[in-house]
Amino acid sequence: MFDKFNDECGVFGIYGHPEAANMTYLGLYALQHRGQESCGIAASDGTRLKTHLGRGLVADVFKDDEIFRQLPGQAAIGHVRYSTAGGNDIRNCQPIAVSYARGSVAVAHNGNLVNAQEVRNELEARGSIFSTTADTEVIIHLLAHSQSDALPDRIAEALRQVRGAYSLVFLTETRMVAVRDPHGFRPLVLGQLGDAFVVASETCALDLIEAKFVREVEAGEMLVFDQNGMTSFRPFEPQPYTPCIFEFVYFARPDSTVFGRQVYGMRKGFGRQLAREHGVEADIVIPVPDSGVPAAIGYAEESGIPFEMGLIRNHYIGRTFIEPQQSIRHFGVKIKLNAIREVLAGKRVVVIDDSVVRGTTSRKIIKMIRQAGAKEIHMRVSSPPTSYPCFYGIDTPTRKELIASSHTNAEICRYITADTLGYLSLEGMLKEAGALEGALGKCCEACFSGNYPVKFPRLKADTQLGLF
Ligand code: AMP
Repeated sequence: MFDKFNDECGVFGIYGHPEAANMTYLGLYALQHRGQESCGIAASDGTRLKTHLGRGLVADVFKDDEIFRQLPGQAAIGHVRYSTAGGNDIRNCQPIAVSYARGSVAVAHNGNLVNAQEVRNELEARGSIFSTTADTEVIIHLLAHSQSDALPDRIAEALRQVRGAYSLVFLTETRMVAVRDPHGFRPLVLGQLGDAFVVASETCALDLIEAKFVREVEAGEMLVFDQNGMTSFRPFEPQPYTPCIFEFVYFARPDSTVFGRQVYGMRKGFGRQLAREHGVEADIVIPVPDSGVPAAIGYAEESGIPFEMGLIRNHYIGRTFIEPQQSIRHFGVKIKLNAIREVLAGKRVVVIDDSVVRGTTSRKIIKMIRQAGAKEIHMRVSSPPTSYPCFYGIDTPTRKELIASSHTNAEICRYITADTLGYLSLEGMLKEAGALEGALGKCCEACFSGNYPVKFPRLKADTQLGLF
């Protein structure tokens, strides 16, 4: 069986730099928010691929110089992985590197394939033996089975057989290849550092290594980097462009530009729109840090209610969802956040968070704010109710665990024990997304609307939608 939940991940690659593995380490460090469970780097010195992988944070897995001495060469790719139940296995760390008839290849994947199980069943029926439970391994097998001679053709042939979300970086002894799926679900940007080419999930990784942002890798585009420089291919049938709006809600870092749009500005805009839709008389606006901060600034600006930090976050722990057990997650909120009584006591408080998923976090936070003496608590959420699971690479629970899938706003408000609750409307969110400069096209907002741009097999849908 595949992992029950999808993987959210970050990818990075650099070609033509004397310290490729070191640069990749820094790139992954900047992308740590996209995955804290495991990480890895594969590097090539032109004749051989070497890989180092491990569970844990980038700084812990790559903690001594000796590791970098073992990763020589001018090209490297890296991956940070975020998985939940069932996926916490060293064999699922990426980049996945293999040797096959034509040499070696390593791959790092952000996204989720919707037909991976079906393709895997077919491959296993033809004799393939899989060593991981990650759907990314399917791509490797398809690549190895391809009869085409040229690497770009083999990769294209493999990817034409899979459907779903992928931003991928491949590394062979002599080449690096970056590919973004034809719908462009997940971000991938191209940068330049001197003569070296860089690809990364988000621009914050380019900023850290002082690489220049060149452009996005376009949806359906394959970039091949080799001794001749960079070549762009368009090997797929064009599809509607559907970048993931949840990158703006929660996932991407606010200092990044993804899909050509600044995340911080977008989040602030969501907060402003939220204030227009769900204004309330209150004394202070406080964010749930860190992800609620830009939206709370926007809400405060638009409403004229002063912004305060009523909750302080401990930065030395991972994100809440990293603990798969409900019991630990409950505890986790207290480990992560503490309330400031001096700010909250006697106040009518607007609390802004970016999303409510299971409702567990909000319930704990509101209890904490109330214990700190708040008089009224008005919960405002800078995205619409999350009612549908994601099949394209964001980790959302199955349908029955999503509180908004089976409860009304009034029921959710009661459950989280707020005085009032208001969510940003989907129309408001899309309007705000469109109002910022440049047109995003039609985002994927399946987690809010249930309109899935890429269909998936029935069984998977039924299981994940919680229908049986
Ligand atoms: P919950 O307790 O399930 O309602 O969790 C909601 C909190 O989790 C919010 O504060 C969000 O910032 C955060 N969150 C939303 N989506 C995700 C995700 N896919 N992975 C990790 N955390 C998330």
